[in-house]
Amino acid sequence: MNSLQVSGAEFRKLGDRVATLAARYLDQLDGLPILPPATGRDTEALFHHAVPEEGMGEKAFQDLEHVVEGCRAQNGRFFGYVLGSAEPVAATADLLTSVLNQNVTAWRSAPAAATIERTVVEWLATAIGCPGFLGSLTGGGSAANLMGLAMAREAMLPANKTGLVAQPQAVIYTSQEVHMSISKSVALLGIGREHLRSIAIDDRRCMLPSELENAIRDDKHQGRVPIAVVATAGTVNCGAIDPLLPIAEVARKHKLWLHVDGAYGALAALAIPERFAGLNLADSISLDPHKWLYQPLDCGCLLYRDDAAARRAFSDTGDYAKSWSADPVEGFAFFEESMELSRRFRALKLWLSLRYHGLEAFRRAIQYNLELAQRLASAIARQPQLELLAPVELSAICFRYKAEGLSQEDTNARNARILKRVNERGRVYLSNATLEERFALRACIVNHRTTEADVDSVISEVLAAASEV
Ligand SMILES: *Cc1c(COP(=O)(O)O)cnc(C)c1O
Repeated sequence: MNSLQVSGAEFRKLGDRVATLAARYLDQLDGLPILPPATGRDTEALFHHAVPEEGMGEKAFQDLEHVVEGCRAQNGRFFGYVLGSAEPVAATADLLTSVLNQNVTAWRSAPAAATIERTVVEWLATAIGCPGFLGSLTGGGSAANLMGLAMAREAMLPANKTGLVAQPQAVIYTSQEVHMSISKSVALLGIGREHLRSIAIDDRRCMLPSELENAIRDDKHQGRVPIAVVATAGTVNCGAIDPLLPIAEVARKHKLWLHVDGAYGALAALAIPERFAGLNLADSISLDPHKWLYQPLDCGCLLYRDDAAARRAFSDTGDYAKSWSADPVEGFAFFEESMELSRRFRALKLWLSLRYHGLEAFRRAIQYNLELAQRLASAIARQPQLELLAPVELSAICFRYKAEGLSQEDTNARNARILKRVNERGRVYLSNATLEERFALRACIVNHRTTEADVDSVISEVLAAASEV
């Protein structure tokens, strides 16, 4: 018998074991230290072993306890980065996704999975006010941004066939608050980071459309070819939403592709659509259900207005108009519209989670995150030892401990020590940002578990940490 075979009965036993462990983790989550106490040496000692030649059988599962202990707890007081909170119904779907092992390359390979993915993409597009947009799920916002900009380049300055050497220099515009994945994409696409323009921002940290227009004119004058504007709908530092309507107007006037990086913020359009006016004028939009739709990693999404542009960028046959079948459902191939071929059935978790809870529950959770962010911002503003460093546009709060009489450099150093101490204390987890050379403590709320008490503990923990460093 093939010794890799596992019977249904055996699978049930192992699955129950994992489910029991996962359920215990969820029950204990609120009380767990946010950072595991383990050092690098501890984790090496636990896990960095030689691969066993002989199978360990069910004993292999014993160390899963140590794995759980070695994880950062993502309870309601995890405020670092832009990290969603892993809605558990979706997590159950992930197990089935792996068992079914559908390769979502095309409808032919994965009929149910391909249809479900196209359906949830449609749900997402409609939910953020962009009905009619098409797209696919990706590994995250970085992959979606790369694909969006690959589409922009191929639409504006085709290079897939002959390369970029024969083309004039392309230029892409964004604000100084751009996420690093955009400059990475510009580098990978052969445009060169030097040709990514950082447009100045206003005091709400939003791109200035007049400056954008000046920069485009200047580049045109110098013989370069402006191809795309990347507006950000929810900057990673402060959640600023670039003014999409006037930016779309400039892009339209100069015939540039408009990509909106909504990896952090676009899903907030479920709760506050009025703040995202103009989003539907984009040519492509990235968004991250694994951030503000609370899905387990990984689940990003790229939306685009014109699927022909996706096929022009990603179809390798050059024969992108031809399909396997005249039937629009059965002939559909994701690989003609994506940089990936083998793709996991990411849509199942989203489909199950959205159907289980209903869209309204997500809208309310996002709305509540926004209210909690304002609650924290007001509490910081009232607290004489703390100061806000930027307006709170969505759910990212940048602030610092005021160190009266200290130089900027010493204030930064003090706040860096406070950050380290806050996280070591194990109650709340914060990350940081740098705003005009000021070191900021940063709390970001994209978490369906966070409560008022959780948010209030940010203040008490920062003050306690400050008294300890
Ligand atoms: C998180 C983020 C990204 C990158 O998304 P990943 O899913 O981490 O790859 C891009 N842009 C912004 C604004 C983000 O917040």
